[in-house]
Amino acid sequence: MTESTAPAPRSVLVTGGNRGIGRAIAEAFLAQGDKVAVTSRSGGGPEGALQLTCDITVPEQVEAAYAEIEAAQGPVEVLVANAGITKDTLVLRMSEDDWSDVIDTNLTASFRLAKRAAKGMLRLRRGRIVFISSVVGLLGNPGQVNYAASKAGLVGMARSLARELGSRSITANVVAPGFVETEMTDVLTEEQRTAISDRVPLGRYAQPDEVAAAVTWLAGDGAAYVTGAVIPVDGGLGMGH
Ligand code: NDP
Repeated sequence: MTESTAPAPRSVLVTGGNRGIGRAIAEAFLAQGDKVAVTSRSGGGPEGALQLTCDITVPEQVEAAYAEIEAAQGPVEVLVANAGITKDTLVLRMSEDDWSDVIDTNLTASFRLAKRAAKGMLRLRRGRIVFISSVVGLLGNPGQVNYAASKAGLVGMARSLARELGSRSITANVVAPGFVETEMTDVLTEEQRTAISDRVPLGRYAQPDEVAAAVTWLAGDGAAYVTGAVIPVDGGLGMGH
């Protein structure tokens, strides 16, 4: 008789896991039986997750969160750097603060999180890093000079990490969603939503769990040989980029 063995639960960290895409990602890992920590500034998250309050733009708070996660569920084996913000406006109206707030949260904090995670992963000699970018990082978008730059930056960062860490079986990949039904896109008018859907070959927004499916795949055994990749989950919006 052969005994079937379930894969060992892994220590997963999802930033921005209290709502939207991050929450769906955290729920998908929990459903697989993994140990999941979620962070956000306002707290909360799915049942069963270690819910931590942590502003990722503050280095001390990130360090404290990692210490708590390591004590509770072991070193982070899967990092999903998902937390992100927008501060949209046309370039001539974009202030230095609009620029730096978005870069600090979306890009610099992702560097901070990945650097800290890499420390434990290098010791373990395995690990998965997934950055949540955006189709806008590849296509550009009027009013999103700051956001698009931050999301494009994640691609260069992932690819550099892929080259630096690959020899230790650590992968670094990017998921680039198109428009997804979350609070971030709730602010769009009906007219803007229709205009966007008209440009999407699949003719609709994504649901958060459709993004989560790409992330769990990248973190799973089936993607062991995938690194430095940009996986679009955009209904075809960014095809060719
Ligand atoms: P939401 O606005 O719904 O959620 C953003 C998450 O990030 C929240 O959990 C928020 O928690 C957290 N967050 C923001 N700033 C910080 C911070 N300084 N420290 C800690 N946590 C922070 O966004 P979505 O779920 O829609 O987006 C998730 C990711 O997906 C983002 O990176 C976004 O750019 C990207 N994306 C989204 C798309 C969409 O159409 N929705 C399309 C393409 C990409 P809190 O406010 O409590 O801190």
